[in-house]
Amino acid sequence: MDVEFCDCGGLLVPARENVRRCRNCGREVEKPFDSRLTDETKKTEIVVIEDNEPDLPVMEKECPKCHHDKSYYWLIQTRSIDEPPTQFFRCVECRHVWREYK
Ligand SMILES: [Zn+2]
Ligand SMILES: [Zn+2]
Repeated sequence: MDVEFCDCGGLLVPARENVRRCRNCGREVEKPFDSRLTDETKKTEIVVIEDNEPDLPVMEKECPKCHHDKSYYWLIQTRSIDEPPTQFFRCVECRHVWREYK
């Protein structure tokens, strides 16, 4: 099963066919399984959700949970262009994921 994240950083879980719901804010996201339409999006999201050794850059950023001092980071551009991209972090140590607005 694919694991994906909402704009708010919450986990998206399947609600019904082609629809996922954010466990955090309850927002529903349509996820049609037409690969031609979603290929572009999927590529970015797969990088984000890789649960093995992720191919992400690492920076010195303290984890708010375990206080480890290194985290993976990536940016997600939310759907509207006038919003700034959201910076996501994932602790190298405990895999805790959090986000910060630019
Ligand atoms: Zn959400
Ligand atoms: Zn941590």
